[in-house]
Amino acid sequence: METEEKEKKSLNFIEQIVVKDLKDGKNDGRLQTRFPPEPNGYLHIGHAKAICMDFGVAEKFGGVCNLRFDDTNPQKEDTEYVEAIKEDIQWLGFKWGRIYHASDYFQQLYDFAVRLIKEGKAYIDEQTSEEIAQQKGTPTQAGTESPYRNRPIEENLQLFERMNSGEVPEGAMVLRAKIDMANPNMHFRDPIIYRIINKEHHRTGDRWKIYPMYDFAHGQSDYFEGVTHSICTLEFVPHRPLYDYFIDELKEGRDLDDHRPHQFEFNRLNLTYTVMSKRKLLALVQEKLVDGWDDPRMPTICGLRRRGYSPEAVRKFVDMIGYTKFDALNDYAMLEAAAREDLNQRAQRVSAVLNPVKLIITNYPEGQVEEMVALNNPENEADGTHIIRFSRELWMEREDFMENAPKKYFRMTPGGEVRLKNAYIVKCTGCKKAADGTIEEVYCEYDPQTKTGMEGANRKVKGTLHWVSADHCLPAEVRLYDRLFEVENPSADERDFRELLNKDSLQVLSNCYVEEYLADIQDCKYLQFQRIGYFTFDKSSTAGHLVFNRTVGLRDSWAKK
Ligand code: ATP
Ligand code: MG
Repeated sequence: METEEKEKKSLNFIEQIVVKDLKDGKNDGRLQTRFPPEPNGYLHIGHAKAICMDFGVAEKFGGVCNLRFDDTNPQKEDTEYVEAIKEDIQWLGFKWGRIYHASDYFQQLYDFAVRLIKEGKAYIDEQTSEEIAQQKGTPTQAGTESPYRNRPIEENLQLFERMNSGEVPEGAMVLRAKIDMANPNMHFRDPIIYRIINKEHHRTGDRWKIYPMYDFAHGQSDYFEGVTHSICTLEFVPHRPLYDYFIDELKEGRDLDDHRPHQFEFNRLNLTYTVMSKRKLLALVQEKLVDGWDDPRMPTICGLRRRGYSPEAVRKFVDMIGYTKFDALNDYAMLEAAAREDLNQRAQRVSAVLNPVKLIITNYPEGQVEEMVALNNPENEADGTHIIRFSRELWMEREDFMENAPKKYFRMTPGGEVRLKNAYIVKCTGCKKAADGTIEEVYCEYDPQTKTGMEGANRKVKGTLHWVSADHCLPAEVRLYDRLFEVENPSADERDFRELLNKDSLQVLSNCYVEEYLADIQDCKYLQFQRIGYFTFDKSSTAGHLVFNRTVGLRDSWAKK
């Protein structure tokens, strides 16, 4: 009993509903969900939350989740998006049962609409969309009936056919369900269910001139496919009664209570410092404000992938935020924390110097090269080791040297000792400066008795610095990314979202050095540049020109700003 209670607690509220429905034998004990993207853009992290729910719940309780393209608006849809959506779902690690398209049901939906017309439950309205909107009323005030509401059934049938023949211009007529202009639920006030769109459809070509609205396609598609749990986000709560209404009509009273889909809603993901609306994301791409849908600053799944996120990190984040019935704004820092936690386990450790200055070990023999052993991943011994070469001249980070350092400075400063990672303890002896004060070279002496791994080499020094050998490294370009927007909630801001972009969201460092080993592991996806952060090879990286993207820094630096 106790464990049953515990188990229940660890389930989210939708999983609890599913468990109960299965236990009660609803839908003959079947569980079928669907993920219903509109192929009018790339998937983003918000969709990942829906995917983890739709596919996750089916997987967990022995059901099936199908992929349905909600392709009812040819104006914005494209097969490019269809392919990208499939790739992203697979990358996240989910498998769909079957692939469906809402456009497969255009004939059935048309027939259903004709039936409603014949039963006096739908009519053709010739008013403009503005006029129709004006007559809607308010939640507390009944709407006004359209002057076309009571036109004869025969006329409605003829006009509906003409709407679909191409002779009626777009916007001149719509088909509305005749329900109740005084209903407190605004969605019942004679909703538009079909409109004319004169645009080729990516699957049905020019077969149709009329296309069903969301409310007249979604629930019916669920019903045709045998969906049991139709899970969506909270903004569809007010649509639910209409969803049920059309299914009741469709079923014509047959076994009314069982074998029908039910809609359940959870809170959508809103994330700070970014936007999730496809319209805005598309604008960023089209106006070249970012480098495509997979720009590493984009909240898209492909953007996160190119940024170096693992699918596990994305799923971990979705787990962390959970599912509730209340809308919230989640902190971008949480997404980054999920990435750090996950990448710490899987990242290959390497050395890279992003802002180099020369370090010369004056007492190290010229021409001598040593092979040092570096751990691939201290979190997982099984990942083994690799070799990093050490010599007299190294590159170190400019930030790791200070000529006149304060007392508690544990990096390189004249007179002080530090350990060079995987190598020796060195004592800084000075530096060479240009006329303008720029440090040109830093000098030090090494202690041959302190080689890492050597018996008794563990003399205490406070700082450990990374380095690469000047003769044994590769030049590289490193791209540092930051938040795409400079305000916390761009969607709530009155200004145009373009004005809110963070101008410093991309910093390109073209003068970096990385250890040679990186040339051997160019298909490794998850890297940690030691002491700096997590990185990945950019898709543009080649053997001759290595390019890296920073996934996330080792610590949250934004919090301090
Ligand atoms: P648009 O931005 O054009 O409104 P959309 O983001 O709603 O589109 P769809 O393709 O219609 O995109 O969404 C597919 C599914 O993903 C829907 O079930 C929707 O509820 C869900 N979804 C979309 N955005 C989010 C989000 N931010 N959080 C959680 N689920 C989401
Ligand atoms: Mg939508």
